[in-house]
Amino acid sequence: MSRPDPELRKDLIAYLRLNHPEMCRAWFDDIEPVDFEGGVLRLCVREPVQLRYLQRACMDPFKEAAQAVTGMLISVRFVSPEECEQPEPSELTMGHGRQKAVPRNEGIDLAAEQMVLSPDYVFDNFIVGPGNRLALMAASAVAEKPGRAYNPYFIHGGVGLGKTHLLQAICQLILADQPDANICYISCSTFMDLFHECVKAGRMQDFRHHFRTADVLVIDDIHFLSKHDRSQEEFFHTFNTLYQSGRQIVLSSDAAPAEIPDLEERLTSRFNCGLVARIERPCYETRVAILKAKALLHDLELPDDVPAYIAARLDTNIRELEGALSRIRGFALAENEPITLELAKKALADDPSRGGGVEGAAPSIQTIIESVTRYYDVKLTDLLSKRRHKSITVPRQICMWLARRHTRFSLEEIGGYFGGRDHTTVMHAIRAVNRRRDEDSSFSDALDRLETNVLGRVEI
Ligand code: ADP
Ligand code: MG
Repeated sequence: MSRPDPELRKDLIAYLRLNHPEMCRAWFDDIEPVDFEGGVLRLCVREPVQLRYLQRACMDPFKEAAQAVTGMLISVRFVSPEECEQPEPSELTMGHGRQKAVPRNEGIDLAAEQMVLSPDYVFDNFIVGPGNRLALMAASAVAEKPGRAYNPYFIHGGVGLGKTHLLQAICQLILADQPDANICYISCSTFMDLFHECVKAGRMQDFRHHFRTADVLVIDDIHFLSKHDRSQEEFFHTFNTLYQSGRQIVLSSDAAPAEIPDLEERLTSRFNCGLVARIERPCYETRVAILKAKALLHDLELPDDVPAYIAARLDTNIRELEGALSRIRGFALAENEPITLELAKKALADDPSRGGGVEGAAPSIQTIIESVTRYYDVKLTDLLSKRRHKSITVPRQICMWLARRHTRFSLEEIGGYFGGRDHTTVMHAIRAVNRRRDEDSSFSDALDRLETNVLGRVEI
């Protein structure tokens, strides 16, 4: 077994900071190359959560970096201090701790479907402000006394305001206190997918056992539960079992329980019987503090006027602030200049995400409006007006319904687009469209065509 060259770590991290800055974290400096054997470079980190982050999110960039700096076709493996002691096993798929690698050929592995916990999403990195104080205080109380402080604990708020961050912080604090706690942390859509896969595979017993024996059940984005889907019924029973035995349930959503259009009343009332906390948009001071904290986390030197400038310019959510920071960082790297206010201004001058919220391949509200106005032959100005004639309200409701299904905008934001309507109007619209879709097949066909069109698959 050969010891790696001591310079290797420095070169590796420098390569990653240059080529994959998004992924890098300040603690990367603590990664220790252990040995280099059989074409595999083993890298050790102390914290399990760091190890999981590296295993889940960093494998390919590290391999690329290792090959670039050594000039050899090698691969990398991340290991814990305990694993360092053991020689490198050949051809074994490694897992770590609770988040095991999926065993091959065994079908659905429920435990492997946990969401990965990011070492960044801990309480220490969460900046408090007037808009999130209650949500944060309740989250720490829940993490300190699972099942005894607030149960269920329900966090809601617009996109990019820190719901997932708080959910993960709760999981990580509980795990720090009780490493053996059986925490099921999963996204709502994975819960639904697993439900259907287990039904198909005849493995409902496993499904029930897995979720109903959790010490803590944490489900992100619960607003995706749909009453047209049998998983909502299953979730109801899971909820009851856990709740009755005093196990902690934590949920996040982009709307308050009563405002989730597709949620059955019996679930709404259960969600309301614990604590419901709303996260509001951050104020200017909080935005500045968050930008400074993020810069520190990513080892980025920012003169004071830069966070002030970004925070004054962008006020919707924190994901947008992070986007601006990485744009500025990319710009500084490309220009090979330090970050200054001038450079930040240039970097953000033609930022396409301003006023955004559009992510990945999701259609924009603009695309939705274009498809619907063309299909129904209505004018954009009518659609955005207060007019209530049926020829306008139906297309408007369909736009809201599509926006809700295919963009990450919150009910409030969608209402804002369509003539400054409030979220209850959007909820009403979604319910009306769902009802009519169930009853009227030609309407349902029209919706299908529109939906396919906004997803860019066909012309109408
Ligand atoms: P949501 O789940 O509400 O859509 P996230 O939890 O994913 O939002 O947050 C988006 C990003 O903003 C994450 O990188 C998160 O760390 C960051 N963030 C949100 N709120 C805060 C805060 N109060 N302090 C620091 N970072 C925050
Ligand atoms: Mg989230």
